[in-house]
Amino acid sequence: MINKILCLSKKLIEIPSNKENPNALREVLRVCEKELKVLQSKKFKKKEVPSLLYYNTPKIPKRFKIILNAHLDVVPAKDKQYKPKIVGDKLYGRGANDMKAAAAVMIFVYKELSKKVKYPLGLQLVADEETGGFNGTKYQIGKGVRADFVIAGEPTDLGVNNKAKGIVWIKVKAKGKSAHGAYIWQGENAIYMVTEFLNKLKEKYPVPKKEIWKTTMNVAKVVTSNETFNKVPDDCEAWLDIRYIPEDSDTITQRIKSLVPKGVELEIILKEPAQLTYENNPFVKKLRESTKEITGKLAPVIVKHGASDIRHHNQIGCDGVTFGPIGKGLHTDNEWVSVKSLSDYYEILKDFLLSF
Ligand SMILES: [Zn+2]
Repeated sequence: MINKILCLSKKLIEIPSNKENPNALREVLRVCEKELKVLQSKKFKKKEVPSLLYYNTPKIPKRFKIILNAHLDVVPAKDKQYKPKIVGDKLYGRGANDMKAAAAVMIFVYKELSKKVKYPLGLQLVADEETGGFNGTKYQIGKGVRADFVIAGEPTDLGVNNKAKGIVWIKVKAKGKSAHGAYIWQGENAIYMVTEFLNKLKEKYPVPKKEIWKTTMNVAKVVTSNETFNKVPDDCEAWLDIRYIPEDSDTITQRIKSLVPKGVELEIILKEPAQLTYENNPFVKKLRESTKEITGKLAPVIVKHGASDIRHHNQIGCDGVTFGPIGKGLHTDNEWVSVKSLSDYYEILKDFLLSF
């Protein structure tokens, strides 16, 4: 089986399916379709982004018990990264770790088990996770796709990732009063208004010294339209990138708004949900045990600072985690996945799916 998995993984890695390449996004899904050819599926398409949903029931069920979710898009890479190679236990290439090899495993697991399991099992193959998942996973959910539990094969080193931070992007805009730079008491400096607010925020959300499970804030940009030395600027804008833990989901925007001084306004540009599935969820427990069954080690429960497509399922009340093989270097020039862990991953998913 590992040879089949590696062969398909390599085929997928060779296709430069990043967002700049719509043809490659279609092509990479065609390769998956070819591998799964006799099984039933529905094609979705939004804004020219294709996605697929495989199902093992006569028609798409109201609610799947389990969905395996894989994204086949990657972030852009150097040309040589689209030429996969195996050195020792490592398969190198763009998407080896994030997450084409895991997708290949999910495809073979689904192929083998879709007819064997006695419950609705789905396989969701999408092509826009790296750009937010709005036209793939989220679009399918909008069309009514539901599940009791979803596993996305994102790289987790065989840990079960049940929590990830949400995102808020905010534009902070201050309107002051202009004046001559020699008569500053006649004006109101918009840059000071914004920095005063930023300092308050920084007190509340200081930059952590090291990785920590807390809500963080980054100031991404501060600008004014003023171009002269001798003028009190009357406008200033700052951009904030806030990454909040699921525990802060309900309070985060309110908390930030409560710190806003007079003359400063906020514009929420984006709010993306955090990911949360409780550790005592029975599927989570079973997935950890299946990992122990195969590797001898109970899968640890881990948190992630970046988001995945699971958040879209969580947002409408479906539980889910990310769980993928061992590897390193996602989004870097040196991305690899452990070949041995792909075998383990295949066996773990099988054990898990067959236990229901
Ligand atoms: Zn990914």
